[in-house]
Amino acid sequence: MDVTRLFGCNVFGDEVMKNSLPEEVYKSLRRTIEEGAPLDVGIAGTVANAMKDWAVSKGATHYTHWFQPLTNLTAEKHDSFLEPDGDRAILRLSGKDLIVGEPDASSFPSGGTRATSAARGYTAWDPTSPAFVKEGTLYIPTVFVSYTGETLDKKAPLLKSMTALDAQAKRLLKLFGIEARRVATTVGPEQEYFLIDEEVYKKRKDLILTGRTLFGTPCARGQELEDNYFGALKPRVSAFMRDLDETLWSYGVFSKTKHNEVAPAQHELAPVFATANIAVDANQLTMELMKKTAEKHHLVCLLHEKPFEGINGSGKHNNWSLSTDSGLNLLDPGETPERNLRFMLILACIVAAVDDYQGILRASVASAGNDHRLGADEAPPAIISVYLGDQLGAIVDSIVMGRTYVSKRPVPGSIGVPSSPIFPIDTTDRNRTSPFAFTGNKFEFRMLGSQASVADPNIVLNTIAAQAFSDAVDALEGAKDFEKACRAYTEKLFKQHYRIIFNYNGYGPDWEKEAERRGLLNNKTTADAAGELLKPENIAVFVRQGVYTEKEVLARADIVLENYVKTIAIEARTMIEMARREIFPAVSAYIKELCEGIAARRAACENLPITSDMGTAESLARLNDDFLSAVETLEEDLKNVPSDTKAAAGAMAHIVSCDMEKVRALADGMERLTAAKYWPFPTYFELLYSVR
Ligand code: ADP
Ligand code: MG
Repeated sequence: MDVTRLFGCNVFGDEVMKNSLPEEVYKSLRRTIEEGAPLDVGIAGTVANAMKDWAVSKGATHYTHWFQPLTNLTAEKHDSFLEPDGDRAILRLSGKDLIVGEPDASSFPSGGTRATSAARGYTAWDPTSPAFVKEGTLYIPTVFVSYTGETLDKKAPLLKSMTALDAQAKRLLKLFGIEARRVATTVGPEQEYFLIDEEVYKKRKDLILTGRTLFGTPCARGQELEDNYFGALKPRVSAFMRDLDETLWSYGVFSKTKHNEVAPAQHELAPVFATANIAVDANQLTMELMKKTAEKHHLVCLLHEKPFEGINGSGKHNNWSLSTDSGLNLLDPGETPERNLRFMLILACIVAAVDDYQGILRASVASAGNDHRLGADEAPPAIISVYLGDQLGAIVDSIVMGRTYVSKRPVPGSIGVPSSPIFPIDTTDRNRTSPFAFTGNKFEFRMLGSQASVADPNIVLNTIAAQAFSDAVDALEGAKDFEKACRAYTEKLFKQHYRIIFNYNGYGPDWEKEAERRGLLNNKTTADAAGELLKPENIAVFVRQGVYTEKEVLARADIVLENYVKTIAIEARTMIEMARREIFPAVSAYIKELCEGIAARRAACENLPITSDMGTAESLARLNDDFLSAVETLEEDLKNVPSDTKAAAGAMAHIVSCDMEKVRALADGMERLTAAKYWPFPTYFELLYSVR
């Protein structure tokens, strides 16, 4: 297979455009794609026709405006190219078809920005992300807005945040004499997931309805031997990964790295980074194709943040950087960062932004699923902090303490094996416990959950960085002695925001106490985290940077909470159903068998020992009683959840979730005592170890 020919073969990419469009049209479109110049509507008809011809040559009969509503999924509605021409049919895609669509918006979440009666919504082409053909349909990436202009998706605010950052970063670079045509956010999301066998999956209502196991005792062997991480791939997994890679490559997704993760049955895929909006589209496509490809292999891909208790959950490390059109990475510290004024100023701005807006950064990754992961000794805690590593940490320390920095050059290292090459040792180690870690020439935001859209955290990162850059330029523009002013401003920021820097173990219990002392936020549940979006200073930053209106921020807060409430309600109802109709009867049946055995033994011979059977039957009977009353409490509390979204979220976080934990603990206790053949659904052992 020629991978270079396979790559992007289903994408309406640069080469196809160049070959199929008149030169002027091609140039105009490239200007829009590369510089974000407004699209010349006059060329839409020509582009649409070329796109249609190309798509038809790839076997497409339909097209769809592909958009990202305020769920974590994508939406699509397919229209065929077919149009009547007398009594014949012709294939057509007009300029208007390409540029705008009008799906009914009433059934997508809007957080109250749109009344149900006002159902109109528009999708508008995003020419900066390439169209592609998949399964007979031409996919046109679009943004989604309401009739009254409010954004109803994640893409429009992402593009607006990129525009804001571009403008402010260019202003900042100008201070240093650099004229960039464009500064783009680059994003590389590392995607974690689980693969389990389809037959086993089908027997678990909780996995089917909620994406995670609501019951299950940990398997005798979890991840303690640390032998899954980077372990050899099992044949079925390897075949799946190969198939997935080839599919992704055909859609122009740069899938690069694949490996086993820490937990049994857990894996990861990392792409080569791309401009933020393209990376977001690619990640949505990746998640979708992971599920579809798994199906082909009789596997199921679980993207939930915490499918199994007792072993690691899945996240999505959001690698984020900024780079100019000429390829200058603004987060590249160079050989001597301490003398790199521009880098140190940019770093200080980002540190300040993360400190000032820690609340909305945390809120951007808030979901019911992710609450199980943050702070569970496997992912960073719910507290935001910044890790800078040894070298930058020492430089910032010296700035803050007013000491002279003594540079530690990277030393040529050898691993001590005579035949191995000498190589420079990195100046930053990895710190996997930090939520926001500097990793060489980018920041890695590690709090994002595995099934979430990558758009959310990047909208926030771009917005708050744009604000910090804008503040810096306002302060430094026109300074008489720019170098001196810049150093002083950088120093001021590091001093003011020193509390957010934490270079040690973020998993330790001491950190929580220390963070509290420093006055850092620690919003453990989505119910608390979403409240940050309502604070005036947080709303203000989105409004000032032109990313959201106030109404849109409030709507988003509402959607986060609504989604949280609904998710936990579905989990609770699923739990009740499995408890009453599967677990309770199964345990009762086993108790009955034990009792019949005891009676039979007694009848056969008075002297046969019955103690263990009696003991087990008694324990189970008691547990099953307690279990049913715990289920009744859950039912009752679920019924009493208030209708107001904010109050409901509080009840879900602090009452219903606790009830669910109790129900689960009792069920898991019974699982340990119940004969395997009576247990009504597959156990953790079968879930985690069935794929060979
Ligand atoms: P690690 O996290 O293990 O250090 P890498 O350095 O290879 O691994 O990068 C991990 C992810 O970071 C990859 O998806 C990669 O594309 C992405 N990445 C690397 N450089 C950048 C950058 N400048 N901007 C955004 N993402 C980047
Ligand atoms: Mg990483």
